[in-house]
Amino acid sequence: MEKTISHHPRAKIQDYGPIIGRSTIEELRTLAGRLSGKVIQNVNSTFTGGGVAEILTRMVPLLNQIGVDAQWTTISGRKDFFDVTKKFHNALHGRKEDISTEDFDIFLEVSKKNIEELKLHGDIFYIHDPQPVALIVKRKELEGKWIWRCHIDVSNPDKRVWEFIRNFVTDYDAAVFSAPNFSQVLPIRQFLISPSIDPLSDKNKELAPETIDTVLNKYGLDKDKPIIAQISRFDYLKDPIGVIQAFEMVRKSIDCQLVLAGGTAEDDPESGKVLEEVKERASGKPDIHILLIPPESDIEINALQQASTVILQKSIKEGFGLTVTEAMWKGKPVVASAVGGIQLQVKNKLTGLLCHSVEGAAYAVRKLLGNKEYAAWLGRNAREHVKQNFLITRHLKDYLLLFISLYNPSDTIYL
Ligand code: UDP
Repeated sequence: MEKTISHHPRAKIQDYGPIIGRSTIEELRTLAGRLSGKVIQNVNSTFTGGGVAEILTRMVPLLNQIGVDAQWTTISGRKDFFDVTKKFHNALHGRKEDISTEDFDIFLEVSKKNIEELKLHGDIFYIHDPQPVALIVKRKELEGKWIWRCHIDVSNPDKRVWEFIRNFVTDYDAAVFSAPNFSQVLPIRQFLISPSIDPLSDKNKELAPETIDTVLNKYGLDKDKPIIAQISRFDYLKDPIGVIQAFEMVRKSIDCQLVLAGGTAEDDPESGKVLEEVKERASGKPDIHILLIPPESDIEINALQQASTVILQKSIKEGFGLTVTEAMWKGKPVVASAVGGIQLQVKNKLTGLLCHSVEGAAYAVRKLLGNKEYAAWLGRNAREHVKQNFLITRHLKDYLLLFISLYNPSDTIYL
């Protein structure tokens, strides 16, 4: 199955010039030149939905624009296969899952079918996440470089599932993880490449003030009162109740409003329950706004982030925490828990404030509301930190360097 990518117009590589500088674009083109004639074949399990598809949808056209022949294919699977891979996904994240011998058999059977039927060609095979990991068996017939890209945190996995996946992974040339603390000891080369946001996407582009006002009106928010916001799926791990508690402490001395905005996920049976609890906790409190945002409301999320005075991310556990990146890119002072990838982003008292408790979060928010200059300074640093480290153009450069390094094992290539 070959991907046709052009659902709607996307940014051109030169459009990033004003943000990151034209010399960086030239650098990307130069690096791309070193891959001339090579076909990079990406394989994952879906063209739509989820972070991996999101990244590939933006990344593949940009690679093509700078002259790299990047392509994208998906494996096929049945429902029972994806039920199994969802269980694998949770188990690799460290969650308890009931996984039977039959589940492993289903995985192997569907993988075998893909190995036999999927027409793959290329010089570099970039295989994303566990679903297509078994394709490595094809390297017997397909010469080339093989990379496994792991987008999940496998630092504390279910041992049986990890051993099963690991047996495939060790046949690859290299593995890529999103953060140092997400990885595993492996006998192959490992690269750390953090995720990114696209500054030109609807989620992150600058909005006209009228657009922001329209969204504030729609949700009954007061434009003239400071807004504290957490944008997240309704999930216990995002600690929405803790957010409300912290807000109430702040609200005692400062007039402000809280926005807890997010969606419930279809594949998360708990989210409806969390939303109910949160609504219950907030009922009768006019300054607390619980907003259920439908999927694909990128402009609305963007507007809420841009309208906020302080952005909170009080997660108990977190992957990378893209909501933090998005807020920081918008120059917002962030108060976030010191967990997961948040720590790569929020350098305490420099690019935001880290917190470790409800009281700590309340203290930090109060400090920011009380000192506008300090808040603005943190916001400026935050934006710069994201500009240097977490924009899609940096991600693109990391990918190019990764591909080049496969042909230059002794080169010093800094990723
Ligand atoms: N998001 C969204 N709508 C919502 C809640 C979140 O579009 O109702 C987006 C948010 O802007 C971010 C992503 O979903 O881009 C969440 O990524 P993050 O890494 O913060 O957390 P995850 O949900 O993957 O745990």
